[in-house]
Amino acid sequence: MTDIQNATPLCPDCGKPLEELVACGARDYFCNSCNELKSKTRVREANAAFFAASSKENH
Ligand SMILES: [Zn+2]
Repeated sequence: MTDIQNATPLCPDCGKPLEELVACGARDYFCNSCNELKSKTRVREANAAFFAASSKENH
């Protein structure tokens, strides 16, 4: 078992680590297991602790 709580949020559907895609300042999350893009909103909700700990976004 590896520690998955390092730098990668997890897929809200399958729980696998997501691939973070950054384009022009916008972030998208792609799941290689589901083979589809995941909504940033859903990724955030499913990884609340992750984003609370690591997010430095200006609002
Ligand atoms: Zn998935």
